[in-house]
Amino acid sequence: MADRIGFIGLGAMGGPMAANLARKGHDMTVYDTDLAKTVPLAELGASVAGSVAELTAAVDLVITMLPDSPDVEAVLLGPGGVRENGRPDMAVIDMSTIAPATTDRLFTALTQAGIGFADAPVGRLVAHAIRGESLFMVGASGNDFGRVKPVLEGMGTTIHHCGGPGSGIRTKLVNNLIAISVCQVNAEAVTLAQAFGLDIRSTLDVVNGTTATNGHLVSAWPNKVLVDDTDPGFRIRLAHKDVALALDAAKDAGIPMIAGSAVAQALTAAKGTAGFGEKDFSALLDFVSGMAGIKPPRFDT
Ligand code: NAD
Repeated sequence: MADRIGFIGLGAMGGPMAANLARKGHDMTVYDTDLAKTVPLAELGASVAGSVAELTAAVDLVITMLPDSPDVEAVLLGPGGVRENGRPDMAVIDMSTIAPATTDRLFTALTQAGIGFADAPVGRLVAHAIRGESLFMVGASGNDFGRVKPVLEGMGTTIHHCGGPGSGIRTKLVNNLIAISVCQVNAEAVTLAQAFGLDIRSTLDVVNGTTATNGHLVSAWPNKVLVDDTDPGFRIRLAHKDVALALDAAKDAGIPMIAGSAVAQALTAAKGTAGFGEKDFSALLDFVSGMAGIKPPRFDT
């Protein structure tokens, strides 16, 4: 029989995700400290619990989609929480973005109580959550993954099993470091386009057909540095020049280039290091890993 689902945290992400599960016919009980958030779920036929303890008693699988580490820890491990009121045959999916150390503590404590655990933080945006098109990065044992996968499929289209417990949240932090850093660069670049008087739509038509889409990780790096090919390509020396040109222009326009300046400093350092100026710009990976004394990352090693 399918797991009865308890959903805790019905905010911007959790609300639509829980609604998708309810629409797909899952047996649902929901809880949120803000009672108003439960109303749309009740309209879809979900039961509304008055406490975490009441919810836990009524379900087989608990999903948390809460703001931050202390919220999740309190709900799962605190007094009146899921561990205290749970049964050994239950499972928990935490979909919140929290500290990996907290995830590790949750896994250990719940496992000791015989409760299965998967960290399944969410990629993509609220609009995807509404459409049931979320992406999940799952950290779980093989057994727990098999149990939670059909539930995640009720909320998303793309489910990655990243490895054991804790690997989902760590993947999420890696992903967000990239996504949020790129966002800052995009903000600076599009502001520069505006200051130049460019048409923003046609600027996007251009950059969305170049590696500015972060095709580095889609197609460039897998065919260059990650397979040990750092021959140019586009030289670090030239990349340094181009960024310097953009920064000069931005300075003239009075636009702060916080991330751009940091990138320029990295390129200055790489260019000044023996041999690197003439390497393909994907060899920045080797420069950074070299500074850290870490073996250059490669596929299959
Ligand atoms: P949100 O603030 O909109 O929703 C959080 C919900 O949790 C609220 O309804 C709140 O009332 C409820 N809540 C708080 N403490 C509670 C408790 N102790 N018991 C029960 N309910 C409680 O946040 P969100 O945007 O839905 O994000 C949730 C998590 O998902 C965060 O960790 C966030 O970083 C992550 N996330 C967000 C997005 C996004 O685009 N918004 C995307 C991916 C991941």
